[in-house]
Amino acid sequence: MEERLKELEALALEQVSQAQNLKQLNEVRVAYLGKKGPITEILKGMGKLSAEERPKMGALANVVREAVASKIEEKQAEMEKAEVAKKLASETIDVTLPGRPAPTGNPHPLTKVIEEIEDLFLGMGYTITEGPEVETDYYNFEALNLPKDHPARDMQDSFYITDEVLLRTQTSPVQARTMEANKEKGPIKIICPGKVYRRDDDDATHSHQFTQIEGLVIDKNISMSDLKGTLETFAKKMFGEDREIRLRPSFFPFTEPSVEIDVTCAKCGGKGCGMCKGTGWIEILGAGMVHPRVLEMSGYDPKKYQGFAFGMGPERIAMLRYGIDDIRHFYTNDQRFVKQFNRV
Ligand SMILES: [Zn+2]
Repeated sequence: MEERLKELEALALEQVSQAQNLKQLNEVRVAYLGKKGPITEILKGMGKLSAEERPKMGALANVVREAVASKIEEKQAEMEKAEVAKKLASETIDVTLPGRPAPTGNPHPLTKVIEEIEDLFLGMGYTITEGPEVETDYYNFEALNLPKDHPARDMQDSFYITDEVLLRTQTSPVQARTMEANKEKGPIKIICPGKVYRRDDDDATHSHQFTQIEGLVIDKNISMSDLKGTLETFAKKMFGEDREIRLRPSFFPFTEPSVEIDVTCAKCGGKGCGMCKGTGWIEILGAGMVHPRVLEMSGYDPKKYQGFAFGMGPERIAMLRYGIDDIRHFYTNDQRFVKQFNRV
């Protein structure tokens, strides 16, 4: 019996050391120390032994039992420790690894320019007003002093839906609509950003669809100096505090007098270079005092009220600011182009 116990002990210890995981270790435990295991069997058979042998064998069986149990316990602790270490190792965060960049979008350069201009004019007390892109001939042309046979219409050929309905060629119809809707015929101070359309052949400086921001101020005692002061503030804000503007006489059917506004060239500071075609000036927008006839058509008394209006192309402003050489870049949806404006 003693031999049998020694044999069982050796066998059990061997199997414990060979167990690969907790499941196998538990199988060994059940096989040797369980109720139906050999050691328990031996202890049950002690009754057949002599009174002399019984305590001796009992003690030995218990020693073997203890030895096997403590070995299993030791192995189990070892396994659990290894498991934790493995888990820790696999979950280690290497802070020196380069991060995976999360794909983010950024505003289109045109959107940025438009929002910046909106912010500037909001700060000067203007309201932002929008109007329909599908417009009637009346608001797009006639209400702006461009009757059907007016030659200036040729410069703004558009996409007609019917003879009387078209895609607007300018944001100015929003001015006509705002003046008309103002029942009290009181002061107005608005800017109207939006898309406009012309039947142009697309090239580096022309696009059949582009954006405009139109501004209109109507009040009593408004003069050319208000117009100049406003647009000078705008030019300095958009192009730099050291810039100057000049007003050149021009023609628009809905303003009188009309001017083109130029800003000193950023590249040469006014000395003359390729960018400004040697003049030192770059044209940025058109403006003028609202034509009395336009005021009248919208129900304002031109003897009481005056106003000024201006219209600019955000594309042109973005092109000048960022050195973009082709207007088509704005509309081709090339991510390589748009992403360049992530941090400007
Ligand atoms: Zn220049």
